[in-house]
Amino acid sequence: MIRGLNPIDCDVHPNVPGLKTLLPFMEPYWADTLVQRGMHELDSISYPNNSPLTARADWRPETGKPATTLEQLQSQLLDPFGIDIAILNCLYGVQLPFSEDMGAAYARAVNDWIVKEWLDRDPRLRASILIPIQSPELAIAEIERLAGDKRFVQIMTLVAGETMLGRRHHWPIYEAAERHGLPIAIHAGSSYRNPSTANGWGSYHIEDYVSQAITFQSQLASLLSEGAFRKFPDLTFVMLESGFTWVPAFLWRFKKYWRGLTMEIPWVDRSPVDIVRERVRFSLTPFDGPQSEADITKIFEHLGSDELVLFSTDYPHWQFDGNDPLPPGLSDDLVRKILVDNPRQTYARLR
Ligand code: ZN
Repeated sequence: MIRGLNPIDCDVHPNVPGLKTLLPFMEPYWADTLVQRGMHELDSISYPNNSPLTARADWRPETGKPATTLEQLQSQLLDPFGIDIAILNCLYGVQLPFSEDMGAAYARAVNDWIVKEWLDRDPRLRASILIPIQSPELAIAEIERLAGDKRFVQIMTLVAGETMLGRRHHWPIYEAAERHGLPIAIHAGSSYRNPSTANGWGSYHIEDYVSQAITFQSQLASLLSEGAFRKFPDLTFVMLESGFTWVPAFLWRFKKYWRGLTMEIPWVDRSPVDIVRERVRFSLTPFDGPQSEADITKIFEHLGSDELVLFSTDYPHWQFDGNDPLPPGLSDDLVRKILVDNPRQTYARLR
């Protein structure tokens, strides 16, 4: 338990041990094709396998990758943290292949592996549907194939892809998500169609990692400006591993220019601050803020709502030590909201 509560962990990352694991979940054509073509692993979307950030030292096995078995998850996270429900967000790069059909084959295999090896074996587990966002048509087919299984509680994509997430060719995906009561989760990471900064490629992993927050801001601006929130009034967006200390400053800036440029986007007919407070949620870990209680209190004041942040550990990534990732200075009321109430409110299928 954390602070006397059994939390709902909204960002947990099981790892595919290797392509061989997925082959039994592939149609024969794809199993043959991937082997013949010598496809390499698609598991390093934003976390290089050997980087210290990729797995906490006490969660890294002596051999092989971390977080590849249910037993690891149970003994390292679910049991010691007293997790009530954990949402599995597998970061396998189904978005990477340029072949839309291959991306869809990977997505089907990973999703079916998640069902068989994880969801079927522990009632505390839920998961996100991975979609081949390269093809809205095939992404929707995957959503329709799995939405009947209520253990899938949302749809997940990466923050950086081929095009902006507000653009209309993504809207059929949002329509399907809204119809099934599934939030759209946007996780840090990239299919590397574009550099991770607007000025080109950096030299270091740290540049890529830090700049993810800027990409989240661009995507939020895109969703707002294109009118996605108005078009899909019952759809929630969940930003995973985005950090959230940038949110107040971003909203101050967006609101200021929205006031001056409303004529350009008249469909944004109410304050973008209100839209984001109602419709967007952010995962807690990694907390990208200061450590002083007074400063943390101010950040939550600036957010203007206690309902925006969802508990997450980001297991097995190394974002904190010990068994309590909460920043200091949060009231008991806010802790309960983050750990339990906000996730239940966000995910219709957990209520
Ligand atoms: Zn994460």
